[in-house]
Formats: sequence, C-alpha cells, structure tokens
Amino acid sequence: MQTTPELHLTAVVVEDEPRIRRFVSTALEAQGWHVYEAASVASGITETGVRKPDLVVLDLGLPDGDGLDLISRVRGWSAVPIVVLSARSDEGDKIEALDRGANDYLTKPFGLGEFLARVRVAVRARTSAADRDSVFSFGPVELNMATRIVKKDGVELHLTPKEYRLLAVLVLNAGKVMTHRQLLHEVWGPTQTENSHYLRVYMGHLRAKLERDPAQPEYLLTETAVGYRLVGL
Ligand code: CA
Repeated sequence: MQTTPELHLTAVVVEDEPRIRRFVSTALEAQGWHVYEAASVASGITETGVRKPDLVVLDLGLPDGDGLDLISRVRGWSAVPIVVLSARSDEGDKIEALDRGANDYLTKPFGLGEFLARVRVAVRARTSAADRDSVFSFGPVELNMATRIVKKDGVELHLTPKEYRLLAVLVLNAGKVMTHRQLLHEVWGPTQTENSHYLRVYMGHLRAKLERDPAQPEYLLTETAVGYRLVGL
C-alpha cells in the first residue's frame, strides 16, 4: 500500500457533526491530504470556491440547508470530485445526489477502508483537473478562481487575501443577497459575525478597486440594512 498517494492534494470536508468531521479529516490527513473543514452549506461553497480542492466530502443534512444544493451550485463552476456521506439510506436521495453530479455516495455508518477506496476512485477519475469555468466576469472585472488573479479592464489588480475572499464569496453567490452576518462568517470566521464595520471598510476597498465609480457602484450593491449583493455576473 502506498503511504501518501495523495500528497499535496487538498480536500474540503463539509460535515456539521464534529466527531464525524474529525474522523474523516484525520483519515484523509493520514493519507497526506491537506484538509479544510466546513460545517454548513454556505461555508462548504465558500471553501470549495476559495481553496480549489481536489476533493469534496459532503454530508447532506446540514444546519443551513441541504448538501444537495451545494452539489448543484458547485457543479455550475467546478468538476471537483464530490463524495457524499449521508445518514439517509433512501435510494431516492442517492440517485438525486448522483444526478446532481456527485461522484459517489456512502451511507453512514461506513468503514474507513471503504471510504478511502471510494476517494481514490473518485480522485483518479477526475477530469483532467481543469475546472470548467473558473473565470468569472462582471463589467470590467475578471476573476480567475484557479489562479486567484483579478483584473480590471485587462489590468491585473492587487487584492489583499481578505479582499479576495470577500470578492470570491460574493461572486460564488452572485445575484443573491448576502447578509452582513453571512459575509462576516464566510470571510472573517464564526467569531466575528458582529463586526460589520470590517465589512464596510473592505467593501469600500473593493469598490475603489473594482467599480468604475466607487460612489455609485454598479456591481457591488448595498442592500440597505441587510447586506450586499453582486450583480452583473
Ligand atoms: Ca449532518
């Protein structure tokens, strides 16, 4: 048996039950994977968009929604292998997950050996690693999620890591109103969800860098008292 066949590969584990999340993460880390964890649909989408993982391990029953929705959203812009772990043994759920583009489906409880075998198959089968549409554009702005390069009118911009992450979260949720709390959670983490002044400051930076007229934003819109929304993608 190879000891670290997946060395340098990155996984996102989306699971709200800490015990199972640690179990899966530890198993992958022991195989050389670098693991990022998420405990909700929203964070799972963010981590998958921002980390560009080689694998997503996904629970279906999540506190803010159904993991099936994550599959649909991620498949809009990525061909990353998705292995579903679910307590639901219903045939219908399994078919639904596969129809939406999951690569494989394991019913809990599952054995470690079987899980790792399924992961190896899913990763081996991945299509040339080239994601379908990792370039997003709106107005004069182009963001390449694979290279993390952001351009305005064809000129490369420098964004700080937090600015990039905020932009990526808005792009991944384009058209949708993101509340202050959601954005703070996704960009600064679960302990910073009350610090909406961070958001005002960083949104100001992003508008200054990306908008034609930062005082009259066309793309990074304010939803008064609620949050922000990216339009034009
Ligand atoms: Ca769950």
